[in-house]
Amino acid sequence: MTGFATTAVHGREEREKPYHSLITPVCSSSTFTFRDSEDVRRMQEEYLGGKYLERQEYGRYGNPTQYATEQRLAALEGAEAAILSASGMYAITSALLALLSGGDHMILTNDCYRRTRGFCSSYLSRWGIETTIVPPCDVTAVQKALQPNTRIVFTEIPTNPWLRVIDLEALVEIAHGQGVRVIADSTLATPYNLRPLSLGVDLVIHSGTKYLGGHNDLLAGLIVGAEQLVNEVRELHFNLGGVVAPQVAYKLLRGLKTLGLRVQHHNTAGMAVARFLESHPKIKRVYYPGLPSHPDHEVARRSMKGFGGMVSFEIDGNIERTSSFVDALRIPFIGPSFGGTEALVIQPAVQTYYGLSPEQRMALGITDQLVRYAVGLEDPDDLIQDLAQALDGIR
Ligand SMILES: *Cc1c(COP(=O)(O)O)cnc(C)c1O
Repeated sequence: MTGFATTAVHGREEREKPYHSLITPVCSSSTFTFRDSEDVRRMQEEYLGGKYLERQEYGRYGNPTQYATEQRLAALEGAEAAILSASGMYAITSALLALLSGGDHMILTNDCYRRTRGFCSSYLSRWGIETTIVPPCDVTAVQKALQPNTRIVFTEIPTNPWLRVIDLEALVEIAHGQGVRVIADSTLATPYNLRPLSLGVDLVIHSGTKYLGGHNDLLAGLIVGAEQLVNEVRELHFNLGGVVAPQVAYKLLRGLKTLGLRVQHHNTAGMAVARFLESHPKIKRVYYPGLPSHPDHEVARRSMKGFGGMVSFEIDGNIERTSSFVDALRIPFIGPSFGGTEALVIQPAVQTYYGLSPEQRMALGITDQLVRYAVGLEDPDDLIQDLAQALDGIR
């Protein structure tokens, strides 16, 4: 096993590529052809033997550029196999649909991506799949929620916006003790900071849109794990058809080559911003797992190499003063997402959770003065100066 940076550049890639190309080319063909009928039979036999091949017959079943990207991420996660698909949400929904049946039960940790919660409560329920939502880092609550028909425990790590970091090893021990699979959405961690499969997790999910793509210019999703389990999802994926375009697969592969360098920067800048904010008198509270004040600091320190580029904090002010602070920032753009080259900021009360009553928001812990800030690849000193001038402007 090579180091992260070497794997990011070369991992599981054929050295000889078409046209003696140095880089993996974008293969745009929607159909892949056969020399003769014997060639067709060979492909069919390999497929029936449970092998997923670089060479498929039709673009919905795979594409060489997609395959190269899947292999690269699988190498970075230390996994046998991966599926690259159209978006992070598609990766989540296809995995849950493939692995759950009517009458099954799953456990979801709260403080998960809002659409994941919504899919479970509004849609899976229609097919007789029940979901219990438990607090984000409460392994005991997971244990209490286990039922004889529980099939999956789904968690994010870290969560968003509170950046909670669950003790995955403890979670896996409890779930596996009852034959229950653990799926971790590790989008915020990236394989640079955390490798959930090495802690016993069964499937890892990523929104490739965030750190993996890394340039705020694509949408993609990934499922990573052991070949047999990944192929169970792949069979359904062949029916659902949420494929990624080869051009997008290429952009993601390009992004993965610099993943380590970029995440190192996000880690450094995230920590610098978090420390600055924590020391500022106009900040009430900072949520960043790299700070000793974070409830999961010890777990995070044990399991993660770095703590990423997202920092959540509450300013001393009401909903309007918080909005005017956000408006006074000159470097980050106001917009959802994170993990790319450009810093982004949102005030969850008026963005992700707009339309909820103050009571509903409070039930989710979303206060009026909460700000979610995601560093980009800008100089941390510039981001801090910018935050300082915006805070100075708060009256
Ligand atoms: C963004 C995100 C998703 C959804 O991914 P898309 O690529 O936007 O579909 C899922 N989980 C987490 C943790 C995310 O941040």
